[in-house]
Amino acid sequence: MTLTPTDLAPLTFAVTKNLAAKSPAERDEILANPGFGTNFTDHMVDVCWSAKGGWHRPRVQPYGPISLDPAAAVLHYGQEIFEGIKAYRHADGSIHTFRPLENARRLQRSARRMALPELPEEYFLQSLRELIAVDGAWVPGGDDQSLYLRPFMFAKEAFLGVRPAQKVAYYLIASPAGAYFKGGVTPVKIWLSEDYARAGKGGTGAAKTGGNYAASLLPQAQAHEQGCDQVVFLDEDGNVEELGGMNVLFVMKDGTIVTPQSPSILAGITRESILQLAKDRGHRVEQRPVSLAEWREGVASGDIVEVFACGTAAVVTPIGVLKTATFEDVQPTGTLALELRQHLTDIQYGRAEDTHGWLERLDG
Ligand SMILES: *Cc1c(COP(=O)(O)O)cnc(C)c1O
Repeated sequence: MTLTPTDLAPLTFAVTKNLAAKSPAERDEILANPGFGTNFTDHMVDVCWSAKGGWHRPRVQPYGPISLDPAAAVLHYGQEIFEGIKAYRHADGSIHTFRPLENARRLQRSARRMALPELPEEYFLQSLRELIAVDGAWVPGGDDQSLYLRPFMFAKEAFLGVRPAQKVAYYLIASPAGAYFKGGVTPVKIWLSEDYARAGKGGTGAAKTGGNYAASLLPQAQAHEQGCDQVVFLDEDGNVEELGGMNVLFVMKDGTIVTPQSPSILAGITRESILQLAKDRGHRVEQRPVSLAEWREGVASGDIVEVFACGTAAVVTPIGVLKTATFEDVQPTGTLALELRQHLTDIQYGRAEDTHGWLERLDG
């Protein structure tokens, strides 16, 4: 991992220990069955930003409610961005994360789009280390378990006028995560939303911002009513974009892997890594527009032999069915998606050689 050298002095975090931290026994009980996104570690990181003072008051403090002015801009205009990244425990006990610089840079790109300040990469990385320094024991060591790290930033200035906020908060919280698929990875059923889009030309689709997720909740609820697990969205030209929070990939008969290209897709780090591992194995990789017609015809003709989705939370998920009001297409399933998933997680958990230098040790 290489950081661009800068003159930035590292932040000095004021650490306040949580006096009501969970006992080791309570923590072990949670880690034995962590679920996803419902349990949190004992601490959180918080750094303030103001137009006048820049980044300041870096803190590690007990995890707990945030006090906000009711006029805080985020509550009214949704000026908010976030990231998702995991910490993995290796067999020797050490704690590592995966390509954190990519997340730091994506947070900066999201910030630019949402008129928020760009957190320097160094500070992003430092925030991860600071939290692991106090909450490292929360990184579970079981199969496919991890500590999900959730950096986020929002406009906290109390001001109802519409302009970029001059006071912003950056936070990092962490939540232990169990195996996403209990009892093995199973193909998911995908609902094709014909009534709604998640993003439009010139919109915020490429930014990791809460509003995109808010817009996906109604179609997601419709998907559930239809017996589906997730939604896939199209753009206005009928090209495949992505799921609400995962990118989509197609495996062609000749081994080529195709993934949609569009300025309104969120560029996943999992997708980029999967494509790199596929290239290492000699697969051709194409990023180009993929129409719904090409998808359906490809499946019907046998030109498409596997379809899968990927993202940090679930890693890789084969797509088993594509359904809308008017059709239900069973998708072909193969072995490549799961092989790539295995290779990627083997690197993340330190079981396979990290030939691309993707891991960053967070403890010690
Ligand atoms: C976070 C996210 C992804 C996946 O990105 P990863 O870096 O692979 O976790 C894909 N699509 C959307 C909309 C996302 O928010």
